[in-house]
Amino acid sequence: MSILNSKFNTPFHTAPFSKIKNEDYLPAFLKAIEHARAEIDAITSNTETPSFENTIEALDFSGEELDRISSIFFNLNSAETNDEIQKIAQEVSPLLSEFSNDITLNEDLFKRVKAIYDTRASLDLTVEQKTLLDKKYKGFSRNGANLSEEKKARLREIDKQLSQLKLKFGENVLAETNAYEMHLTNEADLSGLPEGAKEAAQQLAESKGKEGWLITLDYPSYIPFMTYADNRELRKQLAIAAGAKAFKGDDLDNQDNVLQIAQLRHERANLLGYKTHAHFVLEERMAKTPETVENFLNELLDKAKPAAVREFQNLEAFAKDIDGIDHLEKWDGAYYSEKLKQKLFSLDDEQLKPYFKLEHVIDGAFTIAERLYDLKFEAIDTIDKYHEDVLTYKVTDIKGNLVSIFYADFFPRAGKRNGAWMTVYKSQYIKNGVNDRPHISIVCNFTKPTKSKPSLLTFNEVTTLFHEFGHALHGMLANTTYPSLSGTSVFWDFVELPSQVLENWCYEKEALELFATHYETGEVIPMELIEKIKASATFHEGMQTLRQISFGLLDMSWHGQDPSGITSVKSHELNAFSKTKLYPDVAENCMSTSFSHIFQGGYSSGYYSYKWAEVLDADAFEYFLEKGVFNKEVATKFKNHVLSQGGIEDPMTLYKRFRGKEPKPDALLKRAGLIEKA
Ligand SMILES: [Zn+2]
Repeated sequence: MSILNSKFNTPFHTAPFSKIKNEDYLPAFLKAIEHARAEIDAITSNTETPSFENTIEALDFSGEELDRISSIFFNLNSAETNDEIQKIAQEVSPLLSEFSNDITLNEDLFKRVKAIYDTRASLDLTVEQKTLLDKKYKGFSRNGANLSEEKKARLREIDKQLSQLKLKFGENVLAETNAYEMHLTNEADLSGLPEGAKEAAQQLAESKGKEGWLITLDYPSYIPFMTYADNRELRKQLAIAAGAKAFKGDDLDNQDNVLQIAQLRHERANLLGYKTHAHFVLEERMAKTPETVENFLNELLDKAKPAAVREFQNLEAFAKDIDGIDHLEKWDGAYYSEKLKQKLFSLDDEQLKPYFKLEHVIDGAFTIAERLYDLKFEAIDTIDKYHEDVLTYKVTDIKGNLVSIFYADFFPRAGKRNGAWMTVYKSQYIKNGVNDRPHISIVCNFTKPTKSKPSLLTFNEVTTLFHEFGHALHGMLANTTYPSLSGTSVFWDFVELPSQVLENWCYEKEALELFATHYETGEVIPMELIEKIKASATFHEGMQTLRQISFGLLDMSWHGQDPSGITSVKSHELNAFSKTKLYPDVAENCMSTSFSHIFQGGYSSGYYSYKWAEVLDADAFEYFLEKGVFNKEVATKFKNHVLSQGGIEDPMTLYKRFRGKEPKPDALLKRAGLIEKA
């Protein structure tokens, strides 16, 4: 049997990375799936009356071995992959989805779950157990377990069509993105672009055997051009090309796909007993109903719009002033915003970086966690790691009890995907009276040290580290019984609260004094620099907010009502944008036909959650500001009612227990400078 199949005989039962060979994975997966199936069979063949313990609890604790192997494998596939691992992932992924479908479609299992669910009122369950029962039941019912055979067949047909349509939608967007290039041969046309962007454009041309420079619709090429290129006509060409993606009436057009996806989602929701797709999605979100989301977005809109209009007018005046532009168009926004921002703040990364040596920032994050939550971080070298760059820590509480194992992996390398994320090697849970502590990891792609300089972070990297560390604390401090409710296993519009709230400490004098010291002189970062960072962080916040709201409203317009009356994608969209519009419309452009977030990815009826999470984090941090950013009473409430509670109760209940009231957008609007500070 592979080393992966038995409980690890290592310090803290941590993953034995150095002893795992690639060829171990597939047989280990197969074995673990077999074991997990046997665990499910044991539940369904149990001759005793279905009970919470012999069914719901047993189901939640089943598949532990499979989870352990999956976490190691898929975490490494993100952080330290290679061709072989990717090939195994291709083989394993269908096996895993087949296994999870087999559970969802297992009628004997559903019968038992339903029997318990139907008698839940008479069962003496804890709050956490009630939540778990509800979650397990919905895992079946939301996939059609209660439907007649005929309706089940229709549901499967809809799901099949939806997955094909979403795939086609994405393929069209990608094909349109790849089909376009702007070939420039006159260097003057690149005027205004930073050297790095020019170089990249030149290299791209070279790689395609062309002279000069190529600009494409890929973000790393598109964004710098729209932000810096002085040539307005070329910006216009590029912006119109980007906005016309999958909206040209040819065979890559997505209008029909959009209409069909919206229609099928609506039918699917109706079939399952929900009024609209948004009602279906939001049932498992903190926001709960489309009405709440729409009210939320409209309230923000009312409050942010005056600031947005003011910012827009100022920007227009600025453009007129420097370039004689009478009316701002969509392709002018990023360009003049950047110019105005430079004029107002002249802040660049190089000024700040010396104050953010990586080791200092890590220590700062640890000290903050210690002051707030009594956590101690101690570097350990007794556990195995998957790469020499990975740092390993033992986290303990004030009494010296183990809280968590913590891995931190900071630098880019081949085999690591882009971005930054927090992940889990082992969840926390309580079994047979033992509180089994979690193994948490954060993975980033920060500036590497060089021979002459340590790793000095940009301010954006600093907030990213705090963000991921905030997620990590949510995982580390978990204190729930059931693994599927533990740590970050919470509703989607709640999961960014612990991460975003921690970013706030990066702007606070009391916190910065702990770690933002010059790597050569030891001088603490001057407060005027921090003030500048704050001011520039909220620059054009009104317009940004309006933009986010417009996407959220567009999303809800497709999913929060019966879409069968919609015949024109473009006019539907114009209508949805009517209250948020600042720039003149461009007739040949459409947002919906390339809005992959909601038509291909998982954000349908979920786009609002970006702003929702900001409202939560600002409102939560305001409580700290009222009492002091290191106030123990507030920190303890946050730990006890939010960080340790995972998904054991409705997030609004948890939040109110921490805050004493429901979140209000005022703190966010104040922080963003959109309304007056009291
Ligand atoms: Zn996050």
